[in-house]
Amino acid sequence: MAHTKSLELLDRWRVLRCDLDAYGVRLLAVSKYAAEKDVVQLIEAGQQDFAESRPQQLRDRAQHYPTVRWHMIGPLQKNKAKYIARHAAMWHSVENIDVALAVARHVTDRRLPVLLQVNVGRLAHQHGVRPETVPELAVAVNEIPELQLVGLMCMAPRGCDAADAFACLRGLREALMNGSLCNALPQKLALCMGMSHDYQTAISEGTNMVRIGSGLFDSIS
Ligand SMILES: *Cc1c(COP(=O)(O)O)cnc(C)c1O
Repeated sequence: MAHTKSLELLDRWRVLRCDLDAYGVRLLAVSKYAAEKDVVQLIEAGQQDFAESRPQQLRDRAQHYPTVRWHMIGPLQKNKAKYIARHAAMWHSVENIDVALAVARHVTDRRLPVLLQVNVGRLAHQHGVRPETVPELAVAVNEIPELQLVGLMCMAPRGCDAADAFACLRGLREALMNGSLCNALPQKLALCMGMSHDYQTAISEGTNMVRIGSGLFDSIS
């Protein structure tokens, strides 16, 4: 996507949307480092989904811009659980039951849609639940009335083949859909995979949502 970086923000956004709309893939604009004016520009252009990794910034922006959806990505500590429970449209980084329960305690008038973050490469320094633990955590999360399991999320490990990582996540989804959870789930589980440098690969591997930050907000000029 390097060739789009010389374009203006709105042009980069349009190019991306064209790419993604053709496949019915939802764009999450990762605005964690984005300037306020750039966020406003995208909202005015019609961008509906934004993703933040810092809970307070998510809360602040969700309060300022309540007409669009604010997704939580990245690790979450229990003491920030209330911000996500109250303000996130979707929480993409569930990796253990304790934090999930902490968030659930603050959810009041809805079921918060959540995704399990999977450490597909089983790397010690990466966040997420290990592939072999996914079924167990999926069942446990799905039993929490305030949360609704809607999908799986991953980041391709650096230096590995992104296609392999994404295929692994898709395989885990199939296993869940065909396993004991199949009757408990209201819908087909979604896949959230693909970032600026590997979103094309994620599309080929059947992603439903991509998370694009630098490829959208960073320009080279
Ligand atoms: C920052 C971040 C992104 C965006 O990455 P880019 O390479 O800037 O597109 C995507 N997913 C997660 C979990 C992130 O923390």
